[in-house]
Amino acid sequence: MKKLIDHYLNTSDASNGSRLNEQKMKIVQAISQRREPLTIPELSSELKITAPTCIKLVNQLVEAGIINEVGKKETRAGRKPILYALDGSSFRVIGVEILMKRVSFSLMDNHLNPIFVKHHREFALDNTLESLQGVVKFIKDCMIEANVSSCEIIGMGVGITGRVKKSDGESLTFFNFMGKPLAGYFSEIFDMPVFINNDTRCFGMAEKIIGKAKSASNAIIINLSRGLGTSLIINNVVVEGGAGFAGEFGHMQWGLNDKVCICGKKGCLGNEVGGFTLEEQFKERITQGEKSLVTEKVSLNEIRYDDILDAAILGDALSIDMVQQMALRLGKALGNIVNLLNPELIIIGGKFAKARDILIDPVKTGMASSALVSPLKYCEIDFSEMGDFAGMKGAGALVLEHFEFIK
Ligand SMILES: [Zn+2]
Repeated sequence: MKKLIDHYLNTSDASNGSRLNEQKMKIVQAISQRREPLTIPELSSELKITAPTCIKLVNQLVEAGIINEVGKKETRAGRKPILYALDGSSFRVIGVEILMKRVSFSLMDNHLNPIFVKHHREFALDNTLESLQGVVKFIKDCMIEANVSSCEIIGMGVGITGRVKKSDGESLTFFNFMGKPLAGYFSEIFDMPVFINNDTRCFGMAEKIIGKAKSASNAIIINLSRGLGTSLIINNVVVEGGAGFAGEFGHMQWGLNDKVCICGKKGCLGNEVGGFTLEEQFKERITQGEKSLVTEKVSLNEIRYDDILDAAILGDALSIDMVQQMALRLGKALGNIVNLLNPELIIIGGKFAKARDILIDPVKTGMASSALVSPLKYCEIDFSEMGDFAGMKGAGALVLEHFEFIK
């Protein structure tokens, strides 16, 4: 497989052997893109390769362990053609997610099924060399622990919080001080192709490829954890925007408070909806004398939004009230996006997704207060079930996307 990838990355060779490698890569891409087994007649017709050549190349791919025979296609008459699928161990990808307080590593197979996963939860993301070295060491340690030969890995995808220019492999908010794009820096260190994107767009990509947005052409994926991020899928494509910064829903002007956002502006929606805000507002209400189950378990200074979500799920009145007020504001803001883009699906993911039963009604009420009746009727709301895996899978999908194993 590595040979085909090397050829794909360096296509200047015009020899006959090179052309056959190119055709083999196209066969692997076609099978991978369809996500279902294909027959030689189907491959031959789709790729415009003659049947005898196709048979020869498919046999070579089977011998190399890249594709397998997985049965025969049911036909009404005649010989049933053999079906071929990608072998689960033909290649591996790495997905890394770098968030404010966590780095995660996942080694995955070609269907993005995790083989080895590890989280580093004592991590603090900072725009410093020390923080970057922490990430590099963690990835190196994971690669050793996962015990996988680097020749099986075809590339690494990295999802990182903040502004990212995917086309240049550049992280603009964090790790922007090396004089070269972060993807290039990682690529040199780990000796493999590396691709990066914003963490929320990786999450959206995972939902689009293997999650609940798989069959939705137009969807909005909300990443609601400590902050508020959004990934937009329009006409089956995860929208990057002109320069790669689309989807900054959390910085839409909301105008309800005067608090200065991390972006430097006042009145951003992210200051009204998100885990950090939930923590702050919750502490304020406790200080004003309100009671909650949360403070029986955690001291006031150590309360995390996760504790508030858990308490809401367990029936704590104050936590439920605060989470629902936040959901109402989110719904109202989402209604505006529904009017603008007419999506068929909204998926709410991130840590808040676990409180789906508490969120759903106020989100719908909020949406009904701002969205027009027709687009609202057309739009379904659902919750992500990928948990912490979404970002890593989406990062791994960057590798599959680059080599055209998905489209
Ligand atoms: Zn802002």
